Formats: sequence, C-alpha cells, structure tokens
Amino acid sequence: MNLNLQHWRVTQDAEGVATAILDKAGESANSLSAAVLAELGLILDAFERQAPKGLIFQSGKEAGFIAGADIQEFTQLDSAEKGRALVERGWGLFNRLAAVRYPTLAVVRGHCLGGGLELALACRYLLAVDEPGTKMGLPEVMLGIFPGWGGMLRLPQRVGPAAALDMMLTGKTIDARRAKRMGLADECVPPRVMAPAARQLLLSGQPRRPLPVLQRLLNGPLKVVVASGARKQVAKKARPQHYPAPYAIIDLWQKHNGNALAAPEVIDRIISSPTARNLVRVFYLQERLKSFGKASSFKAQRVHVIGAGVMGGDIAAWCALRGMTVTLQDQSLERMAPALQRAQKLFAKRLRDPLLARAAADRLIPDVNGDGVPHADVIIEAIFEDVAAKHALFKALEPRLKTGAVLATNTSSLKLEDLRTVLQRPERLVGIHFFNPVAMMPLVEVIQAEGADQGAVEAACAFVRQIDKLPLPVRSTPGFLVNAVLAPYMLAAMRAVDEGVSAETVDEAMLAFGMPMGPIELVDTVGLDIAMAAGKQLAGGADAPRCLISRVEHNQLGKKSGQGFYAWRDGKPTKAAAASVPAGLAERLVKPLIDRVEQLLAEQVVADADLADAGVIFGTGFAPFTGGPLNFRRRQA
Ligand code: NAD
Repeated sequence: MNLNLQHWRVTQDAEGVATAILDKAGESANSLSAAVLAELGLILDAFERQAPKGLIFQSGKEAGFIAGADIQEFTQLDSAEKGRALVERGWGLFNRLAAVRYPTLAVVRGHCLGGGLELALACRYLLAVDEPGTKMGLPEVMLGIFPGWGGMLRLPQRVGPAAALDMMLTGKTIDARRAKRMGLADECVPPRVMAPAARQLLLSGQPRRPLPVLQRLLNGPLKVVVASGARKQVAKKARPQHYPAPYAIIDLWQKHNGNALAAPEVIDRIISSPTARNLVRVFYLQERLKSFGKASSFKAQRVHVIGAGVMGGDIAAWCALRGMTVTLQDQSLERMAPALQRAQKLFAKRLRDPLLARAAADRLIPDVNGDGVPHADVIIEAIFEDVAAKHALFKALEPRLKTGAVLATNTSSLKLEDLRTVLQRPERLVGIHFFNPVAMMPLVEVIQAEGADQGAVEAACAFVRQIDKLPLPVRSTPGFLVNAVLAPYMLAAMRAVDEGVSAETVDEAMLAFGMPMGPIELVDTVGLDIAMAAGKQLAGGADAPRCLISRVEHNQLGKKSGQGFYAWRDGKPTKAAAASVPAGLAERLVKPLIDRVEQLLAEQVVADADLADAGVIFGTGFAPFTGGPLNFRRRQA
C-alpha cells in the first residue's frame, strides 16, 4: 500500500493480512503525535475502501510499543479549544478503529502506556509479549490529566471498573502475565512465537472474554457503589484542590461513560489547571535527572558495600534487586543478619516470583573479609559516621581497588574533602548519597568535592541510573541539597511547637499545603537525636528548639524509640485531632526551606533552578503539584 507515510509502514501479505508498524520518524520511542494520528486516519481510510482480512498493529522500536501521547504537544495547549480538539482527535479516531469490520490486534511488547494502551484497547484483540520490559498502564493521572482517548470507556469494559479505576487513579503499570490474568490481554506469549500467535489470534474469530455479570453490573447500574469507594480511596491520598484529575476521572467514568467530550468544562478545567502544568514540568525534570550519566560508558556489574547497617544493608539489597552482584561487608556475620533478613522481604515483595527472589538473594553475598573489593566496579562505604574509622577504611581499601572502580561514600554530614585526605588519589572519591528508606526514595545525590575526577562523577551517575534511581549532581557542602533545605524547615516547625502550636496542627498545616508528611512527623521518623546533630551542623549557630532538647534529654528519640513528639504504635504515630490551622502558618514554615534553596542555588551547589526543584521534589516529596519550591515562589510572586 503506498500512502506515503512518514511514521507508519503498512504491508499486506498474500492472504490479505495487513500489518501497520509504527516507527515514529526521528525518535527512539513511539509517541502519538498529531502527525502520527493523522497518518493512522489515512490508514483506516484506505482500509475502509478495501478491507484487509485483518490488521495487526506493531512497533518498529526496540524501546517498546507506544510510550503515550506526545507530551510536548500537550505543553503547547494555550486555549480551551485546543484542549478539546486534542481530546477529540484521539477519542474520535480510536472509536473509528474500534468500529472497523475487519479484526484488529495490537502486539504489545515493551511499554504500552497512555494513548498507546488506548489504541491497543480499541483493537479487537490484545496480544501481550511476555518479557521483562512489557508493561501496560494509563499513567495520565500522574501528569494531572485523564485518559480521554477511550481509556476511561474501554478499560472498565475490559477488566471491570474496580481494577480499571485502580490503574487509572494510581497510574501503575502491569506486566504481560498480569494483563492476561486480568483479562486486559487476550493472550500472553513468549517473544519467539509472537508472530504466528498474533496471526492465529487475529483470524480466530474468537469472541472476547465477556465480563462477569457482577462486573457488568458494577460498570452499569451499580456504578455509584464503585465510584464512591474510589472517591474515598483517592481522598486518602490526594486533596481535590491539589490534584483534581483523579476526581475528574471518577466523574467522567460514572456520569459520561468515559467520554470527556460530554463534559467539555471538565476538559477545560483539568487541562488548564496549574497542577497539570506543574506535573508535566515534574515529568520533564525527572527525564532530565535520568539523562545524567548517559554520556558515560561506565557499566557496573559488581558492587561492594561496606557497613551493613540501616543504609548499607538496604543499599546492597537494592543493588542486588536491580541485577547487580553485591558483596556486603561488616565486622561480623551477626551484624549482617538483620540486613539480609530485610533484603529477603524486599525481594519477595518486589519480585513476587519466588525463583526471581531466590536469584536476587543469591546475588547478595555476605563478605566479612572484603574479598569482593578487588572485583567491584563500585565500592560504597556506609560505616559509622566517624572520620577516623572512615580514614582507616579508605587507607586499607585504596591499594586493593580495581582500575576504574568508583569509590564512594554514603556520608550525610562529613566533608568529602576531609575524608579523602588519606587517599593517594583523593580526586577519585565521590559521594553517592542515598536517602532513608532506600527502596522508597527515588533520588540519590551524587556529590563532587572540589577538583573531583569528572569521569568518576559521571560513572557514579551512570551507576545510579543502572540501579534505577534518579541521580542529582551536587557540590560538596554541609547537608548537600536535600538535608540542607530540610533542616531550616524542620527547625521552623519545631519553633512553632515551642510557641504553643500543637504538633498535630503544624503537621496538618503542611499536609494541607501538599507535603506528603508533616514536618514534626518527619522529625520523629528521622530521629530526634539525628535532627539535633543535623541542626547543630546546619542551623548556622541557632539554638536548638526547646521542644527538641527536652525530648532528647528524656531519650524520646521518635519512631525508633516508640516516643518522640508522638507516641508510635506499629510504625504509626498516634495523633490527636489538629486544631484549626492559623492563617499563614504553612507559608511561614515553608519560607525558610525555599530561602535555603535559593541560597544554595546562588552558591552553585546545584547547577540550575530546575535541578534544585527536581532535587527537592524527589528528595523530600515537596508537593509535586507546585512544580517545586522555586517554581512555587515564582508563581506566587
Ligand atoms: P549504622 O550504624 O546503622 O550502620 C553502620 C554499620 O557499619 C554497622 O553495622 C557497623 O557494624 C558497620 N561498620 C562500622 N565500621 C565498620 C568497618 N570498619 N568495617 C565494616 N563495617 C563497619 O549506620 P547508618 O545509619 O547505616 O549510616 C551509615 C552511613 O550512611 C553514615 O555515613 C551515615 O551518615 C550515612 N547515611 C545515613 C542515613 C540514615 O538515615 N541513617 C541516610 C543517609 C546517609
């Protein structure tokens, strides 16, 4: 067929089975831009004139099927009309695709997200290819928008409304096997049989698996039950004034069967919301962090972690989870036992499959004598926060390192300039600063001291990407970026407690602002002794708050001791009801944080304002819908 297309290749075999391969020109991954959709329209036009025996959609990219709509185009919407036109474009086209007379099938291999999954859902059949990279999801909500190209209509029809809303409201992705179990995929096959399996399924004439009766009722007359349950779930996590999109998704599904065009005012409101604009910004900030270390050819296979405490143990486990072979060293096997137990739990939770969990556990090797050192590509020191101890360790380590290995410290508060004095090649020491809890925190600060070897810094960034964390290059300074900006914020929160505001009210003020956790609960979680020590280092000589001193004197250290500002039961704080939040409290508490970000930026601790915002969002959870502290201040001005 000669349609003169730029992004699609369409072929038809002797029996009349057509294949449309999407291979977006000039890009490494497929996204559904206006041009790509317009060409799909032409393909459907041509097949309307002469229907094929069947049509298979496939990707021409290694990266996956389709990553979603073109986010760049989304950022260019500057009027309500353009917003509605964007929704109409995909909604109309995919409805057309869903209505064609001939059978259609999407071969889903690799990522299939957002608009990509909506295209696949509009096909009669969905064949999922079982390999590690295959994942399907509707992550629009994470960008502050909704799946308006048929996702809100067809996913509930396909898998039932509860499972569909769960996917649409969390943005989570599912793998090929899970997709088959849920009924999202009709088949799940290994890559080697994908072509014949696709053809066979396409021509099978097999009807779709019907939704069970109960699910049909829940997707029809009983919608209200599911919708009110979903609203309650969402309300636990996101306030509508901060995150309107999940509420809009529930409404559009319940009242308009997923057709956003039936409620144009909702489209206008959501697409023009500051939240959507800021969440798209956060998406791009994340992409930017992901690009660090890309230029480096460094690839780690073996990691050696020294110190199996809170941090070292979890860092080692995380690296093993991400496929590295890890040797973990501490002073004795007994000291390592708790870390190994936590690792087992992590593997079981994250990998689900017992064989994979077993393999990860096999990759994590206790190593009391440090036999792993000469083989390691990355060595991470995470022993006690003590200069003399670290000096002794580095001295012994250096002669045993492999050429080109990255030597890193996880120190939070010691100066790299002081730690590296014992090294023959001091410029090779970098900081790879993880946050607690390691498995939960996406950011890792990569610290460079004055005169650091740039190759080592790049390699450290590449390693952080390899283990699927977000690297942020930061210059060596007390508290680096994240702890340095948290310290004055936590101090302000505790000063408010000294002034008589209850801990609960202080926390509620910041939760209402959009923080994931209140600052007083954060102090309890970090540990009051640690907060005290950090305060001494980072508060610029200010006196510690009275409420902190008195608790530390009574050995009330927070979560770990069972009592801090709150009493802790089963890992949760017991909170009384908050009083009504005094006007301006949140602004007062957040001001020192933003001031400190500005100051660190002026001192070039991070390279630019966007990276500062990225670091604070991914390192502290700073309300993402604001687009970051500096963006927030700019918008307020
Ligand atoms: P921790 O006290 O829980 O663990 C330290 C471990 O190191 C202990 O198991 C100890 O036996 C071992 N160790 C001490 N000297 C050793 C040696 N010479 N050889 C081998 N093992 C040795 O400490 P942690 O909280 O995990 O902190 C470790 C490092 O990480 C510190 O530099 C700290 O500043 C940094 N850090 C901590 C946090 C946190 O929240 N705890 C966060 C980021 C960074």
